[in-house]
Amino acid sequence: MNVMQWMECRPVSLVGWVLVWMVGFGPVVGWGQPSWKEADSAMVAQIHAQILGEGRCYEDLRVLCKDVGARLSGSPEADAAILWGARTLQEIGAGEVRMQPVVVPHWERGGPERGWLRVDGGAAEPLRISALGGSVGTDGPLEAEVAVFRHFNELDSLGPEGLAGRMAFFNRPMDPLMINAGGAYGGANDQRSRGAVVAAEHNGVAAIVRSLTHALDTFPHTGAMRYDDAVRQVPAAAVSTVDARRIAGLVEAGHVVRVGLEMDCVVHEDKTQANVIAEWTGTEYPDRFIVVGGHLDSWDIGEGAHDDGAGVVHSIEVLRSLHVLGYRPRHTLRVVLFINEENGNNGGKTYAERARERGEWHVAAVESDAGGDAPRGFSIDAADVATDAVRAWRENFMDYGVGDMRRGGAGVDIGPLKKEKPAGKRPLMVGLRPNSQRYFDYHHSNRDIFENVHERELKLGAAALTSMVYLLDQLDYDGLEGEED
Ligand SMILES: [Zn+2]
Repeated sequence: MNVMQWMECRPVSLVGWVLVWMVGFGPVVGWGQPSWKEADSAMVAQIHAQILGEGRCYEDLRVLCKDVGARLSGSPEADAAILWGARTLQEIGAGEVRMQPVVVPHWERGGPERGWLRVDGGAAEPLRISALGGSVGTDGPLEAEVAVFRHFNELDSLGPEGLAGRMAFFNRPMDPLMINAGGAYGGANDQRSRGAVVAAEHNGVAAIVRSLTHALDTFPHTGAMRYDDAVRQVPAAAVSTVDARRIAGLVEAGHVVRVGLEMDCVVHEDKTQANVIAEWTGTEYPDRFIVVGGHLDSWDIGEGAHDDGAGVVHSIEVLRSLHVLGYRPRHTLRVVLFINEENGNNGGKTYAERARERGEWHVAAVESDAGGDAPRGFSIDAADVATDAVRAWRENFMDYGVGDMRRGGAGVDIGPLKKEKPAGKRPLMVGLRPNSQRYFDYHHSNRDIFENVHERELKLGAAALTSMVYLLDQLDYDGLEGEED
């Protein structure tokens, strides 16, 4: 492709042209033609300059966190977040913004929850707890002796009476030796998601779980749990890592520790909420889609700042910055603010179903749902040939600190699009990977607030995400499909 074709296909602003000219042509006018890499480097530089200089994602995040706040699926706050998302996308000139109805679960923590601890029959001491999302209530105060486990298979040696009315406490920490904190989270997550089922299978009355974080602090971290139709539903709650350490230490020293829980959780009827979708029609391939998004819902404690307010405002910034730069996408670009990632993923599933019904070819899908800390790279979920195409851009990204590109999961919301394969094609899936080390300090707790997101790091994430979307728009997808490993 020559320069004139490049100009016709990809109009950019005047500033951009000066940059492209300087970078691409060198000092001698007419010397060679800008290679793809040079033109792309210029655009990636422009994107970073735009967002670092004039980005609005940090202010958007402040409004989402402070004016809307925590926004669990089914809640009035989630409704407010949906309206905020649509309004914000309209404000940045996204054109057609629509709501895609999604049926979501509606669980509520209920009245103030209460926890306590009693050592060797002494007085009750307050214990910080957070009901796990989806848990049943306790139907009044519930107190039982605690038995401590690190792995589910340890319950197999309990004998025929099992827990016999006791409460299971799952206390395996996230693996400190794993460099990727997300991997360590995944390795400990079974305790939170299945702990109540395992406790009930062994005759236990409840389950408490060590919070999923490397931080040693006093904040309980909630998150999704589920029941199994085959066993009784028993209540489940998280305790902070400081309390987890204390309880386990007392039990190990031979003390009898009893834990009390009082929780009024309720499950309401399902409710219809929505994904918010902004669409920007492509100039060359209007029938081929690139989707970029994060999730609007959050847990009901904290403010959902890192999870996933950051991904939502990153995604809005993609559209805004490319608009301001005068860019026109070749493929149709969709920004999707998904609902219900946290406890059902019905937003992601519904989006993929509608896409399948309409026979839409999603050539690429990009997600930001790993927080607002400084970006480090991207994880790629695609066939070999497509993965290689993305990895070829490492050079462009090295200067921005986001050269870490490896295969891995791209995101929960876009996950169901993998099933959408008209004509044997599946999207090239990419997830933004910020530094993971502090993410779980905040995740699903009262610490996940706006004040714990750093403006510059958030903007760097938005710029990296926008650059990735731009580069994905440059790809030719015919022939990029193919079998996976
Ligand atoms: Zn999330």
